[in-house]
Amino acid sequence: LAIDARKPPWLRVGVPGGERYQRVRETLRGLRLHTVCQEAHCPNVAECWGGGTATVMLMGDVCTRGCRFCNVKTAAHPPPLDPDEPRHLAEAIRQLQLDYIVVTSVDRDDLPDGGAGHFADAIRRLKEIPRLLVEVLTPDFRGDPEAVRTVGRAAPDVFANNLETVRRLTPVVRDQKAGYDQTLAVLARMKREFPALVTKSSLMVGLGETEAEIEEALRDLRGAGVEIVTFGQYLRPSAWHLPVQEWVTPERFEAYRRMGERHGFRYVASGPLVRSSYRAAELFLRGELA
Ligand code: SF4
Ligand code: SF4
Repeated sequence: LAIDARKPPWLRVGVPGGERYQRVRETLRGLRLHTVCQEAHCPNVAECWGGGTATVMLMGDVCTRGCRFCNVKTAAHPPPLDPDEPRHLAEAIRQLQLDYIVVTSVDRDDLPDGGAGHFADAIRRLKEIPRLLVEVLTPDFRGDPEAVRTVGRAAPDVFANNLETVRRLTPVVRDQKAGYDQTLAVLARMKREFPALVTKSSLMVGLGETEAEIEEALRDLRGAGVEIVTFGQYLRPSAWHLPVQEWVTPERFEAYRRMGERHGFRYVASGPLVRSSYRAAELFLRGELA
């Protein structure tokens, strides 16, 4: 049996429930809104929605890149952007009465600004909703400083760009247009030019990385001024995608959490089912970063 066929017990989850979760689910039924939570069948949906967090996509569902871990469709020229999308998104989110929204997207290397202006429009409209905290997980815009600034000026509460994996595995795991140093440079620029923003990055584990390589990645992220880091198990979306090399145990996730804290991150989320946006509201609701 391939390792993927034998999921360990800690990756099984219970049935969702809870009053707030139900309310978000009901409201979503009447809205034309696609959440990553539903479309990716994310196992954390009860916890996240119950805690007032959800993740939505901007700019369509076709990406100009093809990372070996990601299940999104790929094309060189995806359909054009819908200029009304940011307004529709904000109207829908207003009805959901969330505390925290994560907005993410495919990469749009076909657009002159990589979609930065579209993101900025969505952020400004979402920030008009009282008490809503806004996190964006954007493309790297190929490191274009002006695109990074466009997003920064719109003033999201949290800016995330994912390193995804350690330096050695980056060329295997991520699209060739992405890059370990490019991601670090984007994160560093955002923090340097917009110090009030909280910056965040995520790593998948179970791809064959070593603990020493994780330690190097944490050092590099802190060097770029990153304040929040998350660790989660890589799960293979299909046989085309990279195989899982290892089921990382809950004990090792705990060791990574402690390692992150030793390196000075303000918050570390680490566990088999943790995703970039996992319970993202928690920190702010505890008042630690607000
Ligand atoms: Fe998936 Fe993002 Fe890679 Fe596109 S750039 S294939 S959305 S991980
Ligand atoms: Fe949604 Fe992210 Fe939570 Fe999954 S981890 S349910 S995608 S907010």
